[in-house]
Amino acid sequence: MVLSEKYELIRKLARDFATAEIPSELQDEIDRTGNYPQELLRKFAKYGFYGIKAPKELGGQGADTLAYVITIEEIARVSMVSAIYVSGANSLGSGPLMLAGTKEQIEKYLGPVARGEKYPSFGLTEPGAGSDAGGVVTSAVRDGDYWILNGRKAFITAAPISDFCIIFAKTDPSKGSKGITTFIVDMKAPGVSFGKPEHKMGIIGCPTSDIVLEDVRVHDSDRLGEINKGFINAMKTLDIGRLGVAAQSVGVGQACLDEAIKYAKERKQFGRRIADFQAIQFMIADMATELQAARELVYNGAVMKDRNDAKASMYCSMAKYFASEAANRIAYKALQIHGGYGYIKDYRIERLYRDVRINTIFEGTSQVQQMVISGALLK
Ligand SMILES: Cc1cc2nc3c(=O)[nH]c(=O)nc-3n(C[C@H](O)[C@H](O)[C@H](O)COP(=O)(O)OP(=O)(O)OC[C@H]3O[C@@H](n4cnc5c(N)ncnc54)[C@H](O)[C@@H]3O)c2cc1C
Repeated sequence: MVLSEKYELIRKLARDFATAEIPSELQDEIDRTGNYPQELLRKFAKYGFYGIKAPKELGGQGADTLAYVITIEEIARVSMVSAIYVSGANSLGSGPLMLAGTKEQIEKYLGPVARGEKYPSFGLTEPGAGSDAGGVVTSAVRDGDYWILNGRKAFITAAPISDFCIIFAKTDPSKGSKGITTFIVDMKAPGVSFGKPEHKMGIIGCPTSDIVLEDVRVHDSDRLGEINKGFINAMKTLDIGRLGVAAQSVGVGQACLDEAIKYAKERKQFGRRIADFQAIQFMIADMATELQAARELVYNGAVMKDRNDAKASMYCSMAKYFASEAANRIAYKALQIHGGYGYIKDYRIERLYRDVRINTIFEGTSQVQQMVISGALLK
């Protein structure tokens, strides 16, 4: 897709920011220590990266989904964990508010997220409800003007550092996925606690943990959208989330290709650069071709979403499915091109390979994307 100058400027802004502010030494330190610099999180806010699609009057950029995916791609090309912080605020955090928030909720929650004053998390998954998200058992029972929430959410990105979480809970257990309602839950409310921080394979520096809810009282003014309509809200939010994951995949895939090309031109064996061997050349050709196909699917998904196309969800799932699987194939080949050095932490490809592994799993596994795509075609 040929992009207009406006989008190329957005790309340049994100690329210049990420390159200057997240140098490789800092990336290594984050990966080694698990500590993500607060100052960098504040800089994301200063540059407007937390509110790319949020309205300008609330401090957002008022931009479209294409601008969002290009920004994520460029940040992920430098640092996938950084892209997760940015996409978390824009997609899973802001999405449900933009879709279903009242004027008061938008001012109270979306504005502060866009301005970097509050950070959100998204609580759908539970220990017994992953791919089968409609099977959540966290309950919300009405008590006058309040709802009482009980349950456990699993694997929640940024949970321990978030100010509020969008929680999906059963308000009518007899109705399955049609009995789910969305709530905005203050993470400092009595009855909220967190599980241990998960020790992850990659995206180290963005904490993941369970959220435990024990008789948490949530005022009805913090119910997001209509009663029993929460699952639709979750699925629509995931369209944008999945495009974000797809864009991260393109960014990391590009970084893998860059590293592979650089290494192939430097490394000599049998008296020649390994780049001179056709086996390596063909791997590079395959990587570049798959990457470009993935990028086209991501940009197409973004345009379809902005157009409110009836099949937008399917296109978002296609983008996520293909881009995340392709990025993993690309990372595998890039590491192979590095030989034994690729297995050593001194080389960047080692982290890229670990970081991108999650992309075929979170926000719906590849198998779930296949279900969404085939479901749209066969209904
Ligand atoms: C680092 C990380 C961050 C995360 N962040 C969040 C977050 O912020 N918020 C949130 O709500 N969740 C989050 N998740 C949860 C994530 O979305 C789930 O892990 C994911 O949806 C898969 O669920 P599961 O792990 O329970 O796997 P399962 O659903 O148990 O799946 C196991 C395997 O079975 C396959 N499978 C399941 N059902 C079918 C079927 N019908 N047909 C074919 N194959 C099937 C799956 O594709 C997978 O291969 C995160 C997870 C991780 C690891």
